[in-house]
Amino acid sequence: MIPAAFDYKAPTSVEEALQLLTEGGDDAKIIAGGQSLLPVLKLRLAAPELLLDLAKIDSLRGVRDDGDAIVIGAMTPHFEVVGGPLVNAHASLLAKCAATVADPQVRHRGTFGGACAHADPAGDIPAAALALDAEFMIAGPGGPRRVAAADFFQDLFTTAIGEDEILVEVRVPKYTGWGSAYEKFVRVAQQWAIVGVAATVRTENGTIAEARIGLTNMGPTPIRARAAEQALVGIAVEPDAVASALTSIADGTAPPTDVNGDPEYRRHLATILGRRAVLAAART
Ligand SMILES: Cc1cc2nc3c(=O)[nH]c(=O)nc-3n(C[C@H](O)[C@H](O)[C@H](O)COP(=O)(O)OP(=O)(O)OC[C@H]3O[C@@H](n4cnc5c(N)ncnc54)[C@H](O)[C@@H]3O)c2cc1C
Repeated sequence: MIPAAFDYKAPTSVEEALQLLTEGGDDAKIIAGGQSLLPVLKLRLAAPELLLDLAKIDSLRGVRDDGDAIVIGAMTPHFEVVGGPLVNAHASLLAKCAATVADPQVRHRGTFGGACAHADPAGDIPAAALALDAEFMIAGPGGPRRVAAADFFQDLFTTAIGEDEILVEVRVPKYTGWGSAYEKFVRVAQQWAIVGVAATVRTENGTIAEARIGLTNMGPTPIRARAAEQALVGIAVEPDAVASALTSIADGTAPPTDVNGDPEYRRHLATILGRRAVLAAART
């Protein structure tokens, strides 16, 4: 279908974008890579009168070193996250998750910030951002604010970003030297995750010293498997030991039912994928 008619503006600064967003009120909508928004507009599930394109705001794109963290601009496309030296050195889990997003075309248009703001529970980026304790820098009429990942993803397609606010960048603490892996279960290539497990671990002398795990599509938001993370500490990097530690990985989840599976099937998948992800992460 063809979207309803809309006006289009491409501000060149965050300040200008915020002003236009405030002036536009309910009728204005931000567009980043358009990979999730345009299908929604074409289906006429939304019909904003004004699209504010962030593509010309140079300050929103790129990855920079910020001491004990790396900072990823909201308009950084997925392919730059996949190949980015800073990301691969300090938060390799993000690069591995971004590499599984759709196909090369989508990864060149879709953005890191757009994927977080869209907050699709089957999206591959949010679980990794949650596992890594990322912080979301949000600009609004009242000034900038910083929101922890645990508070950012609030519900299905719902985040802490207000109607008159813009996600500017995402701050990710450095996990230098940690191994990582993302196990995404799909039936066909380039499908959204039926279930995904994002894991990053630090090992010492063949045992797991620290672990972080995020779950994709196991509830309306990405979910942190904290009990499993704790159970892994001190465990040998060995399949049976890791599997035993991960029996709690699906605790507190609320997986959906759809054509791909029911909650019981998804909880089973999480235990299998979790074991694979943790072992692969520990061996990288
Ligand atoms: C065929 C296809 C397959 C896909 N497969 C996958 C997949 O397997 N895994 C996966 O994770 N994703 C997948 N995607 C989605 C892709 O990751 C998108 O890049 C992502 O969901 C949205 O990013 P975007 O930059 O395109 O955002 P847009 O579509 O432009 O925006 C999405 C939403 O976020 C809001 N928004 C965007 N940026 C900001 C910002 N800076 N501040 C505030 N609000 C903002 C918009 O207003 C809109 O509501 C797929 C997309 C397509 C078309």
